[in-house]
Amino acid sequence: MANEVHYSFFHNVERNFDKAAVFTKWDGGILRQIKGCNSVYQMSFPIKRESGEIITVEAFRVQHSHHKTPCKGGIRFSIAVDQDEVMALAALMTYKCAIVNVPFGGAKGGIKINPRNFTPYELEKITRRYTAELIKKNFIGPGIDVPAPDYGTGEREMAWILDTYSAMHPGEIDSAGCVTGKPVSQGGVRGRREATGLGVVYGLTEVCNNDLLMKKAGLPVGIKGKRICIQGLGNVGYHTALFAQQSGAIIVGLAEYEGAIYNYDGLDVDAVFTHRKQTGSILDFPGAKNFEKRQDALEMECDVLIPAALENVINSGNAARIRAKVVAEAANGPLTAEADDILNAKGVIVIPDMYLNAGGVTVSYFEWLKNLSHVRYGRLEKRFTENMNKHIVTQVEGLTGKTIDKSSKDFIEHGPEEIDLVRSGLEETMITATREIVDIWNNTPGIPDLRTAAYVCAINKVATSYTELGIFP
Ligand code: GLU
Repeated sequence: MANEVHYSFFHNVERNFDKAAVFTKWDGGILRQIKGCNSVYQMSFPIKRESGEIITVEAFRVQHSHHKTPCKGGIRFSIAVDQDEVMALAALMTYKCAIVNVPFGGAKGGIKINPRNFTPYELEKITRRYTAELIKKNFIGPGIDVPAPDYGTGEREMAWILDTYSAMHPGEIDSAGCVTGKPVSQGGVRGRREATGLGVVYGLTEVCNNDLLMKKAGLPVGIKGKRICIQGLGNVGYHTALFAQQSGAIIVGLAEYEGAIYNYDGLDVDAVFTHRKQTGSILDFPGAKNFEKRQDALEMECDVLIPAALENVINSGNAARIRAKVVAEAANGPLTAEADDILNAKGVIVIPDMYLNAGGVTVSYFEWLKNLSHVRYGRLEKRFTENMNKHIVTQVEGLTGKTIDKSSKDFIEHGPEEIDLVRSGLEETMITATREIVDIWNNTPGIPDLRTAAYVCAINKVATSYTELGIFP
């Protein structure tokens, strides 16, 4: 919120939508229907804390679009939650799902608390009560609206939601599909935890492999050797850092609550995490320079800057000082519209959130499909594929008279596990989405940036879905 008076996240999303709408053929009525939020549920409920104190908790669930059901989107625990924020995040979910061809409408939930100030027992009470409130108003269910983790929530909270929902829907055979991001033991899918971060790296890699975009940014092609700064080391930031490093990028800067660290020659992500666990802070990491203010991390020298925490962190107050050539939005809404304009004018490539961080919801979709089919991915075909592959290897060796070395043989014969299928599905999704957006950007005269191209892509898909439903005959 810094430096921007009366900032509305939802208006920011609307502004970006309007900027893109002029590059589409749809009439104003359809565009208005797509843009607005279909249902907004604001609730408050009392909770008795362990101390005996009774507090009132304020919470929301917004369903932005019902053009496809169920609705889908995370639940965040944050003191900054308000209706405007949840509406904006729900809208981004609609566009995000459309871009990656995940057949859901967008939704989002938020509980206005700082989870650090509550005990696990109190958080469980709040989560269960919130779920009960959603059930009361028919705002949750495998075919209605399916929450997931977001800022401040994770597998533990999703398990509480599932348990509350199942207890109140005895015998509902698909109840596991009422929420995603669950622990694997509770119907979660392998690969969901790291999906958003891995999706960010798949998307960034594809952008870095694009000659035209890299030329515009003035950078060499390829993710290898790119110097990257990451702000926010929660689930998304941590996995982004880890996978980017594994892809050959150099992580030069990392930022968290307590401050930021920088080393031009690179930081070992896992070593930084171990250091943080041991000392309680990322600061004073051997060989790295400290920055007391985590905001400073955004202005460090790097090729790619990845904001991976909250919205609005790059705004008119600091955008001019950003030194990165590429800004990759792992968080939702980290740039204000003013910041977008400033960075565009500087020739910075901004990879938009609603496409780049769509890996989470993509794998949530895989989890939901798993829950509805009641079978683990790979269970039916793994052994069959292995037997076939072994047979082919034997035939090839027999026909050529040569022996395939052991590691190649193991690789060829290996039948798919759940994690292999989830990751390849995610990679395919991110690559296809990047190409679609870049094609729109390339082939639409006058289109200013990738964000506008991403909105055009989303608007076209949602509008087509509405018109094909016959809602606008
Ligand atoms: N909260 C994540 C997001 O903003 C994931 C949503 C989901 O998996 O439904 O995309």
